[in-house]
Amino acid sequence: MAAWSSKSTFAVRLLTNMSFSPRYSSSYEVVIAGGGTGGISVGARLARALGKDKVAIIEPSNDHYYQPMWTMVGAGLKTLSATRSAMSDVMPSGVKWIQNSVGKFNPEENTVQLASGEEISYKYLVVAMGMNLHFEKIKGLPDAFETPGVCSNYSPTTVLKTLEALKNFKEGNAIFTFPASPIKCPGAPQKIMYLADEYLSKHGKRDKANIMFNSAGAGIFAVKKYAESLTKVVTDRNIATNFGLNLVEVKPDTKEAVFAKLANPEETETYRYEMLHITPPMATAEAIRDSTLADAAGFVDVQSKTTQHKKFQNVFALGDCTNLPTSRTAAAVACQNKILTANLLSHRESRPQTMVYDGYTSCPLLTSSNSCILAEFDYNLEPLETFPVNQGKERRTMYSVKSTLLPFVYWNMLLKGRWGGPGFYRKLMHFGMSK
Ligand SMILES: Cc1cc2nc3c(=O)[nH]c(=O)nc-3n(C[C@H](O)[C@H](O)[C@H](O)COP(=O)(O)OP(=O)(O)OC[C@H]3O[C@@H](n4cnc5c(N)ncnc54)[C@H](O)[C@@H]3O)c2cc1C
Repeated sequence: MAAWSSKSTFAVRLLTNMSFSPRYSSSYEVVIAGGGTGGISVGARLARALGKDKVAIIEPSNDHYYQPMWTMVGAGLKTLSATRSAMSDVMPSGVKWIQNSVGKFNPEENTVQLASGEEISYKYLVVAMGMNLHFEKIKGLPDAFETPGVCSNYSPTTVLKTLEALKNFKEGNAIFTFPASPIKCPGAPQKIMYLADEYLSKHGKRDKANIMFNSAGAGIFAVKKYAESLTKVVTDRNIATNFGLNLVEVKPDTKEAVFAKLANPEETETYRYEMLHITPPMATAEAIRDSTLADAAGFVDVQSKTTQHKKFQNVFALGDCTNLPTSRTAAAVACQNKILTANLLSHRESRPQTMVYDGYTSCPLLTSSNSCILAEFDYNLEPLETFPVNQGKERRTMYSVKSTLLPFVYWNMLLKGRWGGPGFYRKLMHFGMSK
């Protein structure tokens, strides 16, 4: 009897070790990959709905930045510190913060592998890893950032160089670039150009500056209404626009920027610069591109209306890392986080997903330190304006919205999972007559 008992105990132990001991180090109802705008806002909503310790956010950084403010930092209108918060201060309560990076996605097994090697399992996965900057894809960078005049608002390590370049500007070309890849906030490369134009005018240097927008794009803006307004702005301010030009090399010794002509990439055009503001090529993280979550272009492949993954029903995604066919902005994430959370919870409770994303996105196009064209539009590139005025006009009130109201909404509402975009206010301000 004793012999049988010890054998059976051994067998139970063996079975337990073989089949029941999990390979992963921890398991959550929802794992969120990325703690930026999208990850934090969805985390806050889900923690409220599901309770403590059900949701984990995998995020490596110590700091969380309000990136939309970097345009104003570059022009000296705000400080960099005003855009930064400790990650621990924005991490929603009840959420487990795993301070690590996602190294690999295994959606077939409902696990993610951390860069440290540990595996985390989930019932639901939300991907919110944004896009990475690839300065190194431009020959001569990032080293050229060590030299005068070369700057970029797109990174906290290079944004202060923009103001330095403006302060030190003497005479010559001030060139603002736009790359041949999808980017976050496609309006940002030109906003800083308008602020630079104003700065140089105020400091008596504008007549010595030749400002130019050298863009790989085909036009100034994708939405006709705002493109017309912006074309007027560049014309009135004597700013040159050169489309179909992609920055491929910076030569700091001779202060030259080399652009490939997209119509014929073998051909290049070289411009001397006194100031060169660079918007770098961007792409999703390798962990996304190498996974079965990605489409052919490397973006997380989701349904445009629900934000649910096209292949894996327990995977949702939002923000810059997705192939949602709209402009990548925090304003878009504001709508997406509400819709994603509602649809994920519906799916979890076997209810139909009823929340539909119309592609709402917004770009406050600062044209000076007291004027802004507040572009708001949907998947069809149709204006979807919140305020009952023509937002295609440069307005002081829209500047206040950008500089004061939106930062307040970001820190106090969006990151707390309490802002799902301006849809309600839009309807209210248009007496229910708007979409
Ligand atoms: C200069 C500039 C101006 C802008 N202006 C505006 C504007 O005026 N209006 C507007 O609405 N939007 C603007 N934006 C865009 C806006 O900031 C982004 O669209 C928004 O932050 C996207 O949110 P996200 O969650 O998709 O990505 P992010 O907020 O970038 O977050 C991604 C997170 O994923 C993390 N991550 C990356 N790799 C991994 C990994 N392997 N594992 C785990 N985590 C990872 C990152 O550390 C980061 O915290 C601007 C952006 C810039 C740079």
